Amino acid sequence: MTGACELCGKTAPLMQSHVLPAFVFKWLKKSGHIRYAETPNRRTQDGIKQDWLCRDCEDLFNSFETPFAGQIFHPYDANPSIRVRYGGWLLKFCASVSWRSLLYLKREGHLTQLNERQLASADDALLTWSRLLRGEYKHTGAYEVHLLPLGEIEDSRGINFPPNINRYLARTVDINLGASESVCFTFSKLGPFAIFGFIESLYPQQWKGTNVLYKGGSFGPGKYTLPIQLVDYLIDRAARTKSAMEKISPIQQEKVAESIRANPVRFLQSGLFKAMQRDVEMFGSDAFAKFNSVDVADDE
Ligand SMILES: [Zn+2]
Repeated sequence: MTGACELCGKTAPLMQSHVLPAFVFKWLKKSGHIRYAETPNRRTQDGIKQDWLCRDCEDLFNSFETPFAGQIFHPYDANPSIRVRYGGWLLKFCASVSWRSLLYLKREGHLTQLNERQLASADDALLTWSRLLRGEYKHTGAYEVHLLPLGEIEDSRGINFPPNINRYLARTVDINLGASESVCFTFSKLGPFAIFGFIESLYPQQWKGTNVLYKGGSFGPGKYTLPIQLVDYLIDRAARTKSAMEKISPIQQEKVAESIRANPVRFLQSGLFKAMQRDVEMFGSDAFAKFNSVDVADDE
């Protein structure tokens, strides 16, 4: 299809490109099929695609995705204690993911909960991120992007987590808009990484260690400080994923079991199995009963 590219505005043949990067779906497929929370009874091979970008802009996005996948995503998945120096590409990568998530949420009618001021900020955030991506701006101004590495929980410390929390934190792919009176952000979850694109934040100083620096910096183990409400937000996302997966029909549950039986080694070696084991250790049979909650990409 020929049309106007959403990023550069040029009229050109538009590519079918992923809303969230393709490498994440390749990584997910290694441990099983993908199911969307909205349609848990349908297995799919791939993430959601849209024809938004011309070839040049698609190549531009790939130039940020490739170093993220190769230098951060896969190394961190194999060893969460890695430390990596990153360049200016990381801010652009996080901005490109936030831009795609926000555009997707807007087009799909998911911004209805925002007030007028927040809606105006959302449009301004889209414009600011696109200017950064096209090289017109050097940084994001108030529309900061933050990267938070996640992993399995060592100790629940009395917090009432849903029994799929480790699978959610380590494995799930998710797009959502977080909004309250004091904060509004896009939430893009790529397996063990959460990317937050600020649309409005009255207390940005509550976030420490997650800000991606435009000149580059160091990624690795360290102290991350986040607003306490964010824990509730992540628990809520995990609980929603769990209830969506409980809608899987018995026929589909049998298909999940069948595909594990057909290739048990693949399953046992997968990160999904590891995260599931951790859930079973923490929650016992509550977690095991939801054995079939495979990875999902939730675009609710
Ligand atoms: Zn373009």
